[in-house]
Amino acid sequence: MATAAQAQAIDTDFIRRAVSCADLNAVRVALYQNTGDEEIGALPPTAQMSDVQRSQLIDAAVTWLADNASGARLHEPPEAELRRLMTLVTGKAMSDEEFAARRDLPAFRDFPFMVAWEGERPSIPDAFRVTIIGSGPAGIAAAMQCRLLGLPYTVLDRQDQAGGTWTINRYPDVRVDTPSVNYEFGFEKDHRWAEHYNRGESVRGYLQHISRKYGIAEHTLFNHDVTRAEFDEARDVWVLTVNTPEGEKTMESTVVITAAGTFANAQLPDIEGADTFKGLFVHPSKWPANLDLTGKRIALIGNGSTGVQLLGAVAQKAAHVTVIQRTAQWISPRENYGAPIPAELAWLIDNLPGYWNWSRYLASAGLFDFHLMQRVDRAWQEKGGKVSEANDQVRDFLIGYIRSETNGDEELINKLIPDYAPLSRRPVVDNGWYRALTRDNVDLVTAGVERFDETGFATSDGKYVEVDIVIAATGFDVLKYLWPTRYKGLGGQDLHETWDSGDGPRAYLSMMMPRFPNMFMLYGPNSQPMTGGTGLPQWWTVWASYAGQVMMQMLRDGKTRVDVKPEAFQRYNEALDAEGAKWLQMTPEGGIEKNYYVNQKARRLSVSCPFLSPDFHRMCTVVEWDDLDLR
Ligand SMILES: Cc1cc2nc3c(=O)[nH]c(=O)nc-3n(C[C@H](O)[C@H](O)[C@H](O)COP(=O)(O)OP(=O)(O)OC[C@H]3O[C@@H](n4cnc5c(N)ncnc54)[C@H](O)[C@@H]3O)c2cc1C
Repeated sequence: MATAAQAQAIDTDFIRRAVSCADLNAVRVALYQNTGDEEIGALPPTAQMSDVQRSQLIDAAVTWLADNASGARLHEPPEAELRRLMTLVTGKAMSDEEFAARRDLPAFRDFPFMVAWEGERPSIPDAFRVTIIGSGPAGIAAAMQCRLLGLPYTVLDRQDQAGGTWTINRYPDVRVDTPSVNYEFGFEKDHRWAEHYNRGESVRGYLQHISRKYGIAEHTLFNHDVTRAEFDEARDVWVLTVNTPEGEKTMESTVVITAAGTFANAQLPDIEGADTFKGLFVHPSKWPANLDLTGKRIALIGNGSTGVQLLGAVAQKAAHVTVIQRTAQWISPRENYGAPIPAELAWLIDNLPGYWNWSRYLASAGLFDFHLMQRVDRAWQEKGGKVSEANDQVRDFLIGYIRSETNGDEELINKLIPDYAPLSRRPVVDNGWYRALTRDNVDLVTAGVERFDETGFATSDGKYVEVDIVIAATGFDVLKYLWPTRYKGLGGQDLHETWDSGDGPRAYLSMMMPRFPNMFMLYGPNSQPMTGGTGLPQWWTVWASYAGQVMMQMLRDGKTRVDVKPEAFQRYNEALDAEGAKWLQMTPEGGIEKNYYVNQKARRLSVSCPFLSPDFHRMCTVVEWDDLDLR
């Protein structure tokens, strides 16, 4: 971080460039917080700013920074002031519940969203131990929470290093499609990203840095694959069977926190003859190191987030790529996607105190009301609209974008426009996918693939394509949550059998299952936020803090077992289904029958969380003790 003295060696042109390429909303609020200048405070959010006001803001920021740039960190303002600043960011008032859910997004506190002991920590019995399964970001959040509470913990991971998804997925151009500043932990305040949307490699590096810096690595056993976990109800202890480099071992733990990931089990296409193909068949999550695509004929199945991320890089090397699209996707551009963070902006992040905090807040704020675009408006439809005014505007924008990227090729454009509403699935971010389709060496096939044979595949319109490599970017089996580890709860009840005999994975608050005591799932069934903007790293922290609160209570009261009551589980899931039914993805307009986050057998939302972000935040932070059975 530059000191004030170094900063002053930087000329005002540099500072002006820095301010001009920054998020001016974050500059506005940070500058106001530093100066208390009411003229700055009175400026509206940038969307409503006039050119004159914009220049006024930039001039004021440049002048102030020329004298005051520093790497100082701002303390959290008193609550009323914090709330006023948060309101200033969006220009909109918020409810108490919204404030509670969002107050830690700017991350002024040392450990945002985490819980700490109030008063003296009770003595922790020698035998008490927490085992965290998974050293991806969720496991790291859980480990941080245990560390903060002083609870003895061990992390187990079947991989040989930390990072989870970002260690496993190493396909070309893998990167986050949520802004870097929204995909980082609020407790790690000095890490600086190289790009606005990070590459997988740098996210992996970040997670491993955290694991080392906070001593989590010392508590982690890599190459440890948990194959079975059985609750010993006589002793209130989980007995884990673990495959290790030294052979199978048994380990014991009072509490198990699973952080095993939702996208853990690759889903391969079920196409006749696929096993007879003599070339290479690759799932992106198992990308072979040093795979040379140069001069190869490639079939790329899938146009979801990964297939879209891959195509540009693959097409640059391959002789030919045949893209196989089953369902058209709404694929949208992101400003600065793939772009580095310029030196000027990096300097500003370090030298305008509060800028980092407010840019984090803003990265979420744009999606606070995202749910409003994911509802069907019947009145709007009666006037001839498709879904709702806002959703139809998105549709028009995206159709315009498809046209702009495909050189007006109407035949291609018709294949690319989906027949369901935008925003009914996880947004797919364009990584030059549409442009790549216009290359001479790329073809789009929308006819179904009927069968593979040794050298290629035949399509339903009677064509045959010879290929050397098939990349099956066909996603993950999200209904196989926590698979293949076997969890045995009270009376030997099997978790997978329980879920399979019902309508798939369910949980209480996405975290607890009745009859599976002392177990918390992070990123569990129906946990993935659909709206609200809060990035997953903050949610992992919130879920870890829920487990933290429950464990604190157990330790305070000398209890050894916590279970969720069946009636609470039932009530919660009824509310979840009722909320779920309100969403666009559950309607014909939203293409319910084609959505992979909809459990097609049961016709209900599977991965996504239907509750609005502030509501779900309250449920996961204000523990309903009556729902739990502690003994
Ligand atoms: C390609 C890809 C891109 C993504 N991009 C984004 C994005 O841009 N933004 C976003 O918000 N989300 C994204 N996601 C979702 C992503 O999965 C999460 O953001 C995140 O990585 C999940 O973290 P996690 O810790 O829950 O699980 P993971 O990162 O999947 O980590 C789980 C870990 O648990 C270990 N494990 C599992 N079972 C066992 C066992 N039985 N024994 C031992 N170890 C076990 C695994 O080896 C793994 O290391 C993406 C997912 C994928 C697959």
